[in-house]
Parts: sequence; C-alpha cells; structure tokens
Amino acid sequence: MPYEELRPWIGKALDFIHEWEASWGAFRVHPAQEVDLDTLTEAFGRYARRLTDNYPFFHPRYAGQMLKPPHPVAVLGYFTAMLINPNNHALDGGPATGKMEKEVVRQLAAMFHFPEHTLGHLTGGGTIANLEALWVSRELHPQKAIAFSREAHYTHERMCRVIQAEGVKIPTDRYGRMDLDALEEALQTGRIGTVVLTAGTTGPGAVDPIDEAVSLCRKYEARVHVDAAYGGFFSILAWAEDPLLHGAPFRAIAECDSVAVDPHKHGLQPYGCGCILFRDPSVGQLYKHDSPYTYFTSTELHLGEISLECSRPGAAAGALWLTLQCLPLEAYTGLGPILRASLHAARRWASLIERSEELVLYLKPELDIVTYYPRRATAHAVDAASQRLFEYAMKAEDPVFLSVYRAQAARMKVTNPRLNVDQEEVRILRSVLMKPEHELYVEWLHQRVVDMARAIQQEEGTADGKEKTRKDAGN
Ligand SMILES: *Cc1c(COP(=O)(O)O)cnc(C)c1O
Repeated sequence: MPYEELRPWIGKALDFIHEWEASWGAFRVHPAQEVDLDTLTEAFGRYARRLTDNYPFFHPRYAGQMLKPPHPVAVLGYFTAMLINPNNHALDGGPATGKMEKEVVRQLAAMFHFPEHTLGHLTGGGTIANLEALWVSRELHPQKAIAFSREAHYTHERMCRVIQAEGVKIPTDRYGRMDLDALEEALQTGRIGTVVLTAGTTGPGAVDPIDEAVSLCRKYEARVHVDAAYGGFFSILAWAEDPLLHGAPFRAIAECDSVAVDPHKHGLQPYGCGCILFRDPSVGQLYKHDSPYTYFTSTELHLGEISLECSRPGAAAGALWLTLQCLPLEAYTGLGPILRASLHAARRWASLIERSEELVLYLKPELDIVTYYPRRATAHAVDAASQRLFEYAMKAEDPVFLSVYRAQAARMKVTNPRLNVDQEEVRILRSVLMKPEHELYVEWLHQRVVDMARAIQQEEGTADGKEKTRKDAGN
C-alpha cells in the first residue's frame, strides 16, 4: 500500500517541526486546548468508520470520475507545512511557501512554454482559476461576450452569470471539439471579446483545436483563454512530440492569453490546488486599483495582490513544490511516465472495446478517458443497459466503479450506423483512467465489464422471457 511508505516520513516531519518549534523557546500549551483521550479515541473511531463510506478512489477497480488520492510525497509536503500553517495571501503570511509558490508557478508556466514574466498564482481549484481569467476578460472587454463550447465545463456559463458577462455557446463537432465554422460565425458578429478553449473536456476528454482557433481569434481581436484544468499536464508529452497524443493543440497554448490548470487533477496534489497563468503580467493592475501600472510588469509577484482569493493554504504550494522536486514536469522522468501510462491504458481499453461483441466504443480517446456502451439495437435500450451496467458493476462481488455520461444519439450513429435512434440523449459509460496503475489492470477491467455486460444481458433476456410467458399465459 503506497501510503505505508509515509510512516517513517511522518516521524521525520514531526522531528523537524519539534526541532524548529524548540528553537523558539519552550512554552506551555493552554489547558483549554486539551482534549480528553477517551473522547478522542471514541470520536476518532467513529470518524474512521464514517470515512469508510467512500468509493475506493485509490484502487484500479475505481475507473469512474476524475478522482485519485494524492501522491505520498504531496501528502508529506502538505502535512509538514500544515503544521506551520502558512497563509499565502501575502509573502508575510508565509515567506517560505510564498517563494515556493512563485517557483512552482514558474515551472507550470514553463510547462506551457509561457514567457518568463508570466503572471500567475495558485488557486483553490479550476473553478476559481477560470473565474479569474473570465473576470480579467470582462474587465478588458466590458461590453463583449465570452464564447465557450457546448461541452466546456459548466463553470463557464455559471461564472458568466456571476461576473454579468454574456456567455455564448459554440456547437461542437462529432468528436466533442469546438466547431470552428460556428466559432467564426460568432466572431463575425463582433460581439465576442474572449474565446474559452478547452484542452480536455470534463466529459470525454476532447481537446479543442486550439492551434487552429488561435489565429481565428486573433483575426477578430478576441482574447483566448484555455481551460486546461484537466488536460494541461499533457502539454509535457505534447512538447516532447509523444506519438500517443495529438500535440499541436497543446503546443498552441503557448500563444494564448491565459490558461487554467489543476494540479489537484493530474498534478498528484490533494484538493485545493488550481493555477491561473496570464501571459501579460500587466493584467495584474486589474486586481489592485491603487497600484501603478508599471508595478506589475516587474518579475516580482505580489501574491496577495494578484489573486481574488485572500487566505490560501501555503501547504498547497509546499506540497506541489516538494512533489515537483521528486517528480518534475518532464517527459521521460517524473510526471511524463505517469501521464503516458494513463494514455496507454485508455488506448488499450479502447482497442479491446472495439474488438468486443458486448461493448461499443463511443469516441476514440484523445486523453485518458474512455467512453463506451453495451451493444443494443436502439438508443433507448443502450440508455437503460448503461445505467443497469453502471449499478450492477458497482454492487457486484468483485466490483468495478464506472461513471455515466450523457451522449448524443446522433453522434453514436457515426460509429454505429445500425443503431436505431429512438431518443436523442443517451446515457453511456465513461471511465477516467487517471491512475498509472490502470495501465497494469486494463485487461482485467475490460474483462470484468464484459462479463458483467453479459450478465445483465442474460438477465434482460430472462426478464423478456418472463414477460412473454406472462403475456402468453394472459392470452
Ligand atoms: C475540473 C474542471 C474544472 C473545474 O475545476 P475544479 O478544480 O473542480 O474547481 C473546470 N474545467 C475543466 C475542464 C475541468 O476538468
């Protein structure tokens, strides 16, 4: 079990904290802080029991949503800094983790090939990171609308309402990517001030054609923000020209105005770690109205003054810093091999599904998310069977955890022309293979899902049989 390795390190962290605290002189802890040992023992017992009410996110059998526990090194980094509890709202709240935050922001900027003087900071997550980008866009183009694809994360529509900007939804093509003809039509109206492109949609992990969209946006003088909350880290492989993914859209992020990325998704961090990066550091002036413009063109970042959030955990910056020391943002060591394992797992599962009788592949995975459904004659039957398989798999003896995704039947027809489309929206299955262990267990996962797909089909057959017998008996 990977966290077992942490045992001696937790001791080392406590030794370090003890030594550091002792260097400031001994003091007495106020008795009001004391907790009765029996109370704690009993409460902790209940706490631990309640925490078992969770899905096994750490296990390869969990192939559902975008969830996995943090890397042990991130836990060690977080735990150690948390005992000091620095607040990265300002350098004075935590000088050490404040400096570490600047360093990791520079590393993330370099990952996207953003310029040296990029302005950026960590956030509570992708939602706040994207909000900051949209807010900056609205400040720069107060009268204009913000465009995003129909399959962009719902946060964009919601945040447009928060900042009172008009949101415009652009249709997507059969792969779930933004349709560029539709984008150009919207740009031609002159109403669009900013275009949000997604590098890895939260549903099937589709990557918008950022490389082609950028020049289009420039032609109409629109800002370009990339929501790379999920897919951003795959830039590492894209810049190494890894044949496992189509790299051009990721490499084009380098030309965009801002990018949001979530270290708490593919960056091995615990929740509470997003990041926003702005190519032009002068947008910092928007955050603090009494600052002279030139102040923000320097490389000196004033974290508290360039963030919408005030208090932020220095421990999050510390955890990311320590993680990147051990697992750098590189293609052939560190994070690269972890990401590549996920891509391999998805390619492999997709090819197994394509060759199977029981399952049909919905989209060829661009990243590490696989979408598929049990083979049936009608959209209605696919919908019902997907939901049943999802529930059956979770409750089975040797369970597998999948997730449900709402697909468009018309799009399913592209790869499955014989499908009888008797309803528009169809529930299908989706598996996020974001743990590298999935590479080692993908054959097993596939076999489990196939076996269970057969089992529910047999049940359906039996149920149909009974129905028929009952009808016959009634006649
Ligand atoms: C997860 C995600 C978000 C939201 O980020 P949070 O970290 O959950 O706040 C936004 N956009 C995309 C593409 C995402 O995958």
